Amino acid sequence: MYPKMLEVAKSEGNKEAERSFHHANEVEKIHAQLYQKLLDNPGASRETYAYYVCPVCGYTSEKEPPDSCPVCGTKGKMFKKMD
Ligand SMILES: [Zn+2]
Repeated sequence: MYPKMLEVAKSEGNKEAERSFHHANEVEKIHAQLYQKLLDNPGASRETYAYYVCPVCGYTSEKEPPDSCPVCGTKGKMFKKMD
């Protein structure tokens, strides 16, 4: 769905839309990796992990926030903790 929308955004020369679709793709990739990890280790899903979520783009980090968001550059201290 996103790649097709990206094509449309490009053909219309809508750089703003292109950027936000790119962000969405990056975040989806990261979320997919996290879900895959849970599928690979069913036992891990029973443990309580704290997750930190970027308030700007939704990037999710396990256990600790990064120094800054690898997707949009938001400072780690701005991340929201999710238990
Ligand atoms: Zn971010």
